[in-house]
Amino acid sequence: MEETTIPQGQDHTLNSIQNFEGQYPKQLWSLFFSEMWERFCFYGMRGMLTLFMVQQLMMDEKTANLQYGATQAFVYAFTFIGGLFADKILGFRKSLFWGGLLMIAGSCILAIDPKQFFFVGISFTIVGTGFFKPNISTMVGSLYKEGDSRRDAGFSLFYSGINIGALLGGYLCITVAKNYSWNLAFGFAAIVMSISLLTFLYTKRHLGPIGLSPFIKNGQDTGKKWYDILVYIGTLAVIPAIMSMVSTPEYTDLFMYIVGPATLLYLGYEMSKLTWKENKKIIAAMVFILYSILFWAFFEQSGGSLSLFAANNLDNTVLGLQLDPNGVNNSSNSLFVIVFAPLLGLVWVWLDKRRKEPNTVIKFGLGFIFLSLAFYTFYTNRFFANSEGIASLDIFTLAYLIITFGELCLSPIGLSIMTKLAPKHLAGVMMGLWFLASAYGQYVAGILGAGMASESPDASKLEKLISYTDGYKQLGIYALISGLTLILISPWVKKMMQEIK
Ligand code: GLN
Repeated sequence: MEETTIPQGQDHTLNSIQNFEGQYPKQLWSLFFSEMWERFCFYGMRGMLTLFMVQQLMMDEKTANLQYGATQAFVYAFTFIGGLFADKILGFRKSLFWGGLLMIAGSCILAIDPKQFFFVGISFTIVGTGFFKPNISTMVGSLYKEGDSRRDAGFSLFYSGINIGALLGGYLCITVAKNYSWNLAFGFAAIVMSISLLTFLYTKRHLGPIGLSPFIKNGQDTGKKWYDILVYIGTLAVIPAIMSMVSTPEYTDLFMYIVGPATLLYLGYEMSKLTWKENKKIIAAMVFILYSILFWAFFEQSGGSLSLFAANNLDNTVLGLQLDPNGVNNSSNSLFVIVFAPLLGLVWVWLDKRRKEPNTVIKFGLGFIFLSLAFYTFYTNRFFANSEGIASLDIFTLAYLIITFGELCLSPIGLSIMTKLAPKHLAGVMMGLWFLASAYGQYVAGILGAGMASESPDASKLEKLISYTDGYKQLGIYALISGLTLILISPWVKKMMQEIK
């Protein structure tokens, strides 16, 4: 992508984009808004899933937790496939657009009849997110030259966009669903996703060569259009298979057992073509990826067990203000990210000036320490409960504040470090791998949530409180151990990263 001439239909060259002045490239804003609306749709749906399954599909809590984990696991597993097809065939732009269209289709199907078409709609959303999500993040990375120190700040801003969308979608969709209609809430997601795509369409001419198909070399199309068509047809053809895999737990297990090892084999093959210097960076990236599986497995209780905890075991005031506990569960984390991401950014800069900024590995370790504290706080909520098992929404929100600091130490930095450690031609695959780790995290999150749910389907609220909070205490301990081990191996990981910080 080293063009110096302006590609057809474009306003910029790669150089003119990457040599931007100021803190952020202006193209970042278009990606920011597209991702913001996409996350509105995604988190709006995520926040409705578990409750919908329990209240409308009449699943018991154990099954709903598992089903939630499976759905989200597939969403993130497909980001790996989306990244791969973008790198090799479609390019990031077409992938993103195709993904967006599938997400709109999925939301429309759910809006028509969410009970009857639940798994069809969800399957469209799964594949669509797979094509959209990793590729927009990789495009953010492409706006920067190698070694540009403004990259992390760009990802932090982008991460705020993610969370503005998540905040609005997470609160509004569940509120519409609970108070008006589930159909309307899913339809809302479709409208917003259309806004995301229109934003992208409107601004893509400013992206120069970024995200064009890999078959476009020096501005010339090498004419492999039918590859694109095959990908589109292939995507639609696999939807029935995805439907049956998502809805059948045994198939989900099988898929998860196969996709991880197969991906590692593929990565091994790609690594066999690289130098040891490049491979060391990939090994470091793998350490981040493996730890992020653990992180998301705990963190993602939020769409599963914590969503049921919010529906059953919480009062409805935060600092005296009356709020819906599920709305708070779905959106407080995002609100805290938006408020504290810039502040934490300032703390890093302040520490950097004193040469005390922790490196990426230590930041990841800190992420786990915050995670541990947060789960300990979720656990302590049992001591604030009344005799009916209704605990405090204030303490619950405090735990979300703490978990947010953990997320900020790990997630935006993880995105950025993937784009730094990956060789250029594997950028999409590495980003896909980062999200594949989230897939495993989600899958394990569902299993953990199901393990915490009360055995008896007619357990009282008090029994539910005890069984979920027991689980949160365990998660707190495991998070602490994970953080400490990561900090312990940090010198070795740093060595593998070489000049990358
Ligand atoms: N909250 C972030 C997002 O939606 C990260 C999610 C993840 O990687 N599991 O982009």
